[in-house]
Amino acid sequence: MTGNVVVVGSLNVDLIVRVPHLPAPGETVTGGEYSRAPGGKGANAAAAAAALGATTWIVGLVGDDDLGRWTRDDLAARGVDLSQLHTGSRPTGVAAILVDHEGENLIAVAGGANTELAGSMVRTSIEAVSARATDAVVLANLEIPQDAVESAAEAARRLGWPFVLNPAPARPLPYGLIGACRVVTPNQHEAELLAPGGVSGLLDRGPEAVVVTRGARGADLHRRDTPVHHQDPFPCEAVDTTGAGDAFSAALAWALSEGQSLEDAVRMGCAAGALATRAVGARASLPSRKEVEAMAGTTA
Ligand code: ADP
Repeated sequence: MTGNVVVVGSLNVDLIVRVPHLPAPGETVTGGEYSRAPGGKGANAAAAAAALGATTWIVGLVGDDDLGRWTRDDLAARGVDLSQLHTGSRPTGVAAILVDHEGENLIAVAGGANTELAGSMVRTSIEAVSARATDAVVLANLEIPQDAVESAAEAARRLGWPFVLNPAPARPLPYGLIGACRVVTPNQHEAELLAPGGVSGLLDRGPEAVVVTRGARGADLHRRDTPVHHQDPFPCEAVDTTGAGDAFSAALAWALSEGQSLEDAVRMGCAAGALATRAVGARASLPSRKEVEAMAGTTA
């Protein structure tokens, strides 16, 4: 059985210049080395779910430009269904990133086409998916307008589909949105920013679970009236942890779409997160189902 995952989220291109040192305001630093990488939390998660074998849709927007076409080509090659990927009037979202030798960085993000994702578009797109899939998990992040996130939650509720929110980048969230989630997956820094009272404040608002990802320390599954379930990390030689959280939430959504328990879904998420750190770049080492199951110990 392969699950269905609908990702509602951002698509960006990272424009990276490695520099000898980070410039001060007004300073020009020469001798840089340029590269670009496909990014955006929504696109990363969609790529991760597709790598695991889920039938995956991305609901979002890119611009009518070279970076938008490059983004489409990358996701199509990874097997993501692009029927609900729209073209906006603004340019494709970009993150301009300067990185020095120590890995310190300066990042500026221009949301571009992502900022045009309207609630009505999200509703129509999820309805279009529901004509082709009887069941799916909807996964969203916060790199898109609030109205789009709330519409994704509402569309999922109407269809009876689980809604998973990766609340990154964190901002305080309305009461109702948190309650509409089956699972919220903050990292340890985000948990405090989302609601007064951190994890227990979040749980009070009604999601079934809050899963706090803790980088090299694994993840904690919090539910009301149930002891915290800790998932140990899986051993890995972490080369670059960019996108680990995106891979985690995608694997969790995929496992839920296959009817797995929350405990097993967190285990799959941790295995996928660890494997995603093997190479530089958010999409350079996205694991297959076989790799995740071998690491999580669910196959012989
Ligand atoms: P984010 O990228 O959102 O900050 P985390 O860094 O918490 O997310 O990573 C998500 C998950 O990926 C973690 O819960 C963990 O299971 C896995 N992971 C990340 N970094 C490592 C690491 N160095 N070793 C093992 N697992 C890791």
